Amino acid sequence: MSAKQLKNLAVFTSGGDAQGMNAAVRSVVRTALDHGVTVYAIYEGYQGMVDGGGYIRKMDWDSVGGIMNRGGTVIGSARCQEFRTREGRRKAARNLVEHDIDNLVVIGGDGSLTGANLFRQEWPELLAELAAQGEITPQKVEQHAYLKIVGMVGSIDNDMFGTDMTIGADSALHRIVDAIDAITSTAASHQRTFVVEVMGRRCGYLALMSALATGASWVFIPESPPEQDDWEDEMCRVLEAVREAGRRARIVVVAEGAQDRNGKLITSDYVKQVLETRLGEDTRVTILGHVQRGGSPSAFDRYLTTIMGHAAVEEILSSPPDKEPQLIGIRHNRIIQSPLMDCVKQTHDIAEVIAARDYEKAMEMRGGSFKQAFYILRTLLRAKPHRPEPGKKQMRLAVINSGMLGPGMNTAVRTAVRLGLDRGHTILGIQNGFQGFITGNIAEMNWMSVSGWVSKGGSELGTNRKVPDGSDFYAIARRIEEHDIQGLLMIGGWPGYETVYQLYTKRNEFPAFNIPMICLPATIDNNLPGCELSIGTDTALNNIVEAVDKIKQSAMAARRCFIVEVMGRYCGYLALMSGLATGAERVYLHEEGVTLKDLQTDLVHLIQGFEGGKRLGLMIRNEQANALYTTEFMRALFEEEGGTLFDVRQAILGHLQIGGDPSPFDRIQATQLAARCVDFLIEKIEKNSTDIAGIGLMGGEIKITNLEDWPRLIDEQRQRPKNQWWLELRPIAKIMAQPGPQIQILDV
Ligand code: ADP
Repeated sequence: MSAKQLKNLAVFTSGGDAQGMNAAVRSVVRTALDHGVTVYAIYEGYQGMVDGGGYIRKMDWDSVGGIMNRGGTVIGSARCQEFRTREGRRKAARNLVEHDIDNLVVIGGDGSLTGANLFRQEWPELLAELAAQGEITPQKVEQHAYLKIVGMVGSIDNDMFGTDMTIGADSALHRIVDAIDAITSTAASHQRTFVVEVMGRRCGYLALMSALATGASWVFIPESPPEQDDWEDEMCRVLEAVREAGRRARIVVVAEGAQDRNGKLITSDYVKQVLETRLGEDTRVTILGHVQRGGSPSAFDRYLTTIMGHAAVEEILSSPPDKEPQLIGIRHNRIIQSPLMDCVKQTHDIAEVIAARDYEKAMEMRGGSFKQAFYILRTLLRAKPHRPEPGKKQMRLAVINSGMLGPGMNTAVRTAVRLGLDRGHTILGIQNGFQGFITGNIAEMNWMSVSGWVSKGGSELGTNRKVPDGSDFYAIARRIEEHDIQGLLMIGGWPGYETVYQLYTKRNEFPAFNIPMICLPATIDNNLPGCELSIGTDTALNNIVEAVDKIKQSAMAARRCFIVEVMGRYCGYLALMSGLATGAERVYLHEEGVTLKDLQTDLVHLIQGFEGGKRLGLMIRNEQANALYTTEFMRALFEEEGGTLFDVRQAILGHLQIGGDPSPFDRIQATQLAARCVDFLIEKIEKNSTDIAGIGLMGGEIKITNLEDWPRLIDEQRQRPKNQWWLELRPIAKIMAQPGPQIQILDV
């Protein structure tokens, strides 16, 4: 469709606000402008649509600049009773037609999306009525025969069908996990119990995932009430056992909609009362409330909403006018779209199933990974493993970290140790990576040896980049025999993968290597095959985004351009995604290379931008983007050429990217992947299979990749996979980052 044929488009946010809505609005506006479409923002949701006038404002490139890091929604949101009436919707239709708008991108909850769908259905009648009343001309009715809508879900509760994550849910998890981590340390100091209430009237996502990510002792969610009528006794028994086992902090997480099997609400106050009367212990309640909605959006809520906003506009501009409205969502790291009203219906269905107390069905409807998370949590929160079944074969599994630190390594080890022990097996921890394997630094792990590891950054087992060589293989074979290791779980990055493959190729020489081995990707570089998102990457992205937010603020008083160098070795994932999440105007990747002509063009853009009144420039550079055009070289070049117009600073973020505690996403992902790895090893040992494999998210699913193909999957020289899925996102970054149509680009 040519730009001339396109009618105007409007975007608005409605219902409860959520972090990440601004990035979505920015993305919608800039993608539409890039297509040559006139775009409006409707302020204050449906209220602004009904009231019209100044609430419907034309947007240009700069009107959505500098908003991505802000919480809430800068274009406002409101509940609007009037839009629920036909009269209100008729007024809204008139205001849209007045601006020739017949494309709407709705960012809101199920209520807002339902309203939009109704509006779309009534649209032809509303326009006919307006024409009959003389409010609009018959030509306008003809020109705007259809209203096209596309939806994105803004809701911190993650309560919508059709998307793994709603906009704001990841940021809310950050707020909750930070709060529970903080509460855990004070609870441990005083050996106290805390009851933490989190949002989620109809959906236990935030409660379940925050409990999983913080090692909470108990959780209540609406979808799966405690099975026993006397659940109070059971909870107290478990909490007592937890204390006896030596855990000082006890945290109970309660979703605000939690209920018992009879449908009666389980309130945080009631839980406190139970704990105080039955355990006789000082118990405190913390209701997190609106803190969960507030604050700056997480990296995930910035870059994913950017990609979703882009997809929403593409859908609206490319689909036929009478196509059923779609909901843009994500499945893991990929965009998906589904019929909007099916998603709304399924969302309501779950609520009804919960209200009808059919909890099994409710859990089923939430999907596999929700169910699995609940199941894993119930094992991990135990005070000790189940007693082994008599006569069951006990296996000996070893776990090792290898490569550079990947935040989330400890979380994965903890899960593997506890789930392995719970199934009655022995788990050996190999310390100090393959160096420790060679020297025999190996010890049996027990339930409490991993206590508190869920939230710890770094690697408690110890890790390094050692790849065995020469006689090292003999030493490793000896250790495997001495300790009777039957299966190996490697949690780490490239050196670990390479070593596992080496062990596989040396099986003829060393029969001890004939054991199943699985690699769990944990590196911030995200440079591993068979895995689209490795553990640690999300933490690193959040570290980068936080640092860049501060760097940007520091430059407010000057006219300055920053060149920020990020890690990733030869893989540009961190550079591209942090570029998307921070609104960088240029991202330099090794995959694309950097030429002198590129730098000249960028310089021209910079000079024009600063001459046109801009105050800040931001370039993100992968550490290996170009061996000769280094960060320092670029800084010096831009500084010299910028003259007195602007100055240039470099910021090499370095190790702050791998430091800190793992993000909620990395903790959850590490837990789920480690659980699958333990299953893999047990299954392979039972079948006498000696497969080697890597686990990871691929195309929106957790998949296991055969690593016998390792050489075929990789670009060995650059240490990155041959196929890098995220490269397809580069055009979006370019659209978002271009200086805006108002700036003429000179040919250089
Ligand atoms: P959310 O979108 O977060 O679910 P609400 O349910 O409060 O939030 O809906 C937000 C707004 O969407 C409402 O104030 C109203 O203007 C509009 N809306 C919701 N449901 C409908 C409906 N069934 N018909 C028309 N408008 C609706």
